[in-house]
Amino acid sequence: MNLQQIQEHFLTMFDSVGIVSTKDYLESCKLHQKSVPNVEYPTLVVVGLHYPKRIIPSTNTYLLPSFYTFGSDYHLVLRKRMSEVMSKIPYDYIALVDNHPHDERIAASLSGIGFFGKNQLIIHPRYGSYQFLGMLFINIPFTQPLRSINTDSCGDCHICIDACPPKALSEQGYNVDRCISNFNQSKQVLSDSQIKQNHLLFGCDICQLVCPKNPKVSLHVHPEFNLSGKEQVAIEDLFTLSAREFERTYSNMAYLWKGKTILMRNALTLLLRQKNVSYNTMIETSLQQDYPLWYKKTATSILSLLQEIANQ
Ligand code: SF4
Ligand code: SF4
Repeated sequence: MNLQQIQEHFLTMFDSVGIVSTKDYLESCKLHQKSVPNVEYPTLVVVGLHYPKRIIPSTNTYLLPSFYTFGSDYHLVLRKRMSEVMSKIPYDYIALVDNHPHDERIAASLSGIGFFGKNQLIIHPRYGSYQFLGMLFINIPFTQPLRSINTDSCGDCHICIDACPPKALSEQGYNVDRCISNFNQSKQVLSDSQIKQNHLLFGCDICQLVCPKNPKVSLHVHPEFNLSGKEQVAIEDLFTLSAREFERTYSNMAYLWKGKTILMRNALTLLLRQKNVSYNTMIETSLQQDYPLWYKKTATSILSLLQEIANQ
């Protein structure tokens, strides 16, 4: 089996595929001053799977995470598709999806899957940044790169820089500590400005939604990303279900991997935005329960603001 055939196998399951040498990837990481572990397998396959843009507004009873979480958990979807392809390829491999020490964006830009946008995402000529990325190191000799030549770039555009509420993006790069998507997925007390900035139950879509390189409509929906109904999270479930019950009810959703308490804390910020005081008693009850300090501190300050609103 040669690299061309391997690429064809992957193209039956993924929207974009690029193959480069592991050596080139490791060198590129060095150039980007990114420290990654050495890998012995000589060939690197980078895959992309498109996910559609779908906007579902929050209501007074249901809150919404970023649309990349809609449908089944992409970590599981990509892993399953990768192992299905590799079941036909007789070589040892290491498959990586998110949460690993490598840099899939460096790998994706090297493999021609897209260019590095100022919004810090890989932008594909057709799918824009609406792609999940995965990497596979395969123990097959590397012969030649199989990649598209990508000459596109952001150019003079700075729409995402201007649109980012906490000014996490700039021409010089990215300040992760300011990014909403970073702090609303971290187990921490939220500051007053973070409470004001947060606008989703999980993640932040702004720098993708404003990007002119992204498709305006959904191009296609892979069956695993069909809506399941669990995209809309009932506020009552957040405050009344135990962690285990919540995981059962919202099983297979990508927002679950950080646990329910992060969603509860983020939900508080959205209730404050909505001036929605209907859940004040449930928040009070949660403060008597066994939740971590970072949740209780944020909940205490938001609850006092919600109580003021209720008393007006
Ligand atoms: S995810 Fe949101 S906060 Fe983070 S860089 Fe993009 S627009 Fe800014
Ligand atoms: S909005 Fe403009 S600057 Fe930002 S990633 Fe898209 S093309 Fe690049």
